[in-house]
Amino acid sequence: MNFDVREIRKDFPILEQTVNNRRLVYFDNAATTQKPRRVVDKIVEVYTQYNANVHRGVHHLSNLATTAMEESRQTVRRFLNAASEREIIFTRGATESINLVANSFSQQFMSEGDEIIVTEMEHHSNLVPWQLLENQHKAKVVKWAFDDRGELNLAELEELITDRTKLLSIVYVSNTLGTINPVEQIIEIAHSHNIPVLVDASQAIQHFAIDVQQLDCDFLVFSGHKIYGPTGVGVLYGKEQWLSQMPPYQGGGEMIETVSFSGTTFNQLPYKFEAGTPDYVGIIALAEALRYVEAIGMDNIAAYESELFTYLNDKIQSISDLRLIGTAEKRASLVSFVTDFAHPFDIGTLLDKMGIAVRTGTHCTEPIMQHFGIPGTVRASIAFYNTAEEIDILHDSLLRAVSMLK
Ligand code: PMP
Repeated sequence: MNFDVREIRKDFPILEQTVNNRRLVYFDNAATTQKPRRVVDKIVEVYTQYNANVHRGVHHLSNLATTAMEESRQTVRRFLNAASEREIIFTRGATESINLVANSFSQQFMSEGDEIIVTEMEHHSNLVPWQLLENQHKAKVVKWAFDDRGELNLAELEELITDRTKLLSIVYVSNTLGTINPVEQIIEIAHSHNIPVLVDASQAIQHFAIDVQQLDCDFLVFSGHKIYGPTGVGVLYGKEQWLSQMPPYQGGGEMIETVSFSGTTFNQLPYKFEAGTPDYVGIIALAEALRYVEAIGMDNIAAYESELFTYLNDKIQSISDLRLIGTAEKRASLVSFVTDFAHPFDIGTLLDKMGIAVRTGTHCTEPIMQHFGIPGTVRASIAFYNTAEEIDILHDSLLRAVSMLK
C-alpha cells in the first residue's frame, strides 16, 4: 500500500498540539474532520489574491473567482463521476441538501397521502425535514426498522413499499452504528418499483470511492467539512431528470433568468438551486480537499482505514466492561459503546482529561437510542491520519476511566 501515515500527519498542523499536557488524540472525525494545510492555504489564497463575487462580473478578479468556482464544480463532478456538472448543486451542507430535496421534490412529485420511507438509523437531518412535510400533510413518513445488530432487512423493504411510496431516503454509513448499508441492492429494489432513492453519504464520502452512476442513486448528499474541506459548504448531487423538473428551493439572485413584477423566470441547472452569493471560497477549498484525497487515493484510504477499524473494533471489544452498540457485519470508521455503570458523558470527560477527543451523546440519532433504550453512547471515529498507536492510547485510557468509574 502506497500510504505513509507519518507523512500524512505532517499535512494536518492541528494534530501536533497537546491537550491537557498530552499529545492530542483526535477520534471525533465523524463530527468533523481536520483540515490539511493546503485546504487552509487555499482559503487564504482566494482572500488574498482573487476575492470577488462570482458570476456576471466583467472585471478580472470576478472572472478568476468564477472560473475557480466552476472548476471546483467540475472537480466534484469528477470525484462523484456524475454525468454532468448540471447535476452538482452547492449548498451549505448535507442538511441543506436534504431540505432542498424535501421541499422541492415534494412540491413537484407528491400529494397528500404519499409516503416516504426512511430508516430508523437516520441522522435527524434525514428524518426531520420529512417530518416537517408530514406536519404540512404533504407526506407520510414510513419507518424502516433495523435489528439489534444495526442491520436492515431487505425483505422488509419490499413489505413497506406501497403504490403511495414516492421516495426512499437512506444513510449509506450510519454515524452512530457504523453500519454500511447495502445501498446498491436497496436502490435496485426501489427502482424495480420506480421509486427514486436519496443517499446520505455524509459518513461514506470520506472513507471510500463513490461513483453515483454505478450506484444509480437519484440524489446523494454530503458536507464538505466531513471530507477535510471547510464548514458551511456541501453538495447535492441529483440526476438531471429529477432536478430539471423540480421547482427552485430558495428565491434570490443568481437563480433567476429574468425578473419583473409581472413574472420571473428561472435560471438553468445548476444555478436554479443556488440562490444568493454562494460560499465560493468554501467551494474552492472543498475542491482542494477532494484533490488532496484523490492524490492519496481513495482506495489507499479505504484499505488503511479498514485495517485501522478492525484494530479499533478488536481493542474496544477486548474491554469486557464495554458493550458495543452496532455490531453489523459490514461496518466502517467508528465504534459506539456504553457501560452498565457510567454515563457516556463521564467517560468522554475523563478521556478528554487524557487528551483524547471522542463524542458522547445521541449523535443526532435519538431513534437509535430509543431502539436500544440507552441515553447515548461514546463514539470513537477514525480518519486516515489516525494510527494504531493512538488506538492503543485510547484502549489504555479507557481501562483507566473504567477503573475510576466502576
Ligand atoms: N447525515 C449524517 C449521517 C451525518 O453524520 C451528518 C453530520 N453529523 C449529517 C447528515 C448532517 O451533516 P451537516 O450537519 O454537516 O449538515
